[in-house]
Amino acid sequence: MTYAVKEIFYSLQGEGVHAGRPAIFCRFSGCNLWSGQEKHRAEAVCQFCDTDFVGTDGEGGGSFALAEALASQVKSYWPQSISDQTHPYVVCTGGEPLLQLDEDLIDAFHAEGMEVAIETNGTLPVPKGVDWVCVSPKSGSTLVVEEGDEIKLVYPQYGHHPSDFTHLKFNHFFLQPMFDDQENTNIQTTVEYCLSHPRWNLSLQTHKLLGLP
Ligand code: SF4
Repeated sequence: MTYAVKEIFYSLQGEGVHAGRPAIFCRFSGCNLWSGQEKHRAEAVCQFCDTDFVGTDGEGGGSFALAEALASQVKSYWPQSISDQTHPYVVCTGGEPLLQLDEDLIDAFHAEGMEVAIETNGTLPVPKGVDWVCVSPKSGSTLVVEEGDEIKLVYPQYGHHPSDFTHLKFNHFFLQPMFDDQENTNIQTTVEYCLSHPRWNLSLQTHKLLGLP
């Protein structure tokens, strides 16, 4: 298949278990819960998205006919250091990465020595071989990925309550305050929920606090 990638960049993971970890982000184009166009937001399943995932015009973006070519392009963003033997870490995000990430590409990433993570809305099955699965359920969609490494629920989210997810097989449970014009209130609400329900940990978008992409 041809992979459509919006952008590739190197930064720190801002959220969840791996907050603070250097990572290459591979942002795939397209999502199955919103077209990405403002004129469609009101009728979209997911209406609070703050990410531009339309097209292939971002830094490092483009269309890649071969999995090996995309894996090589992603790997090129990892700093070259003889003394640092850390495996390159790629976070496949979007949009919805599982519209495109397949076993060929996962194998190509692994052949480049990379560790592969995904951030998905959980509505599509995860192919074999992904090393870290982070699911962020979206109200109004059907969750099919019911196990993984971490679940990260944007909170508060109309129609989704944290207690709807505590029975699922994830190793880490995170609540992340909704990023909108009520952000400060949302942070306080999320802190209070975590304090009274210690199964849930707070996840902040620290990359935004730091001004990182
Ligand atoms: S599921 Fe994720 S990428 Fe898709 S519209 Fe919602 S927040 Fe954006």
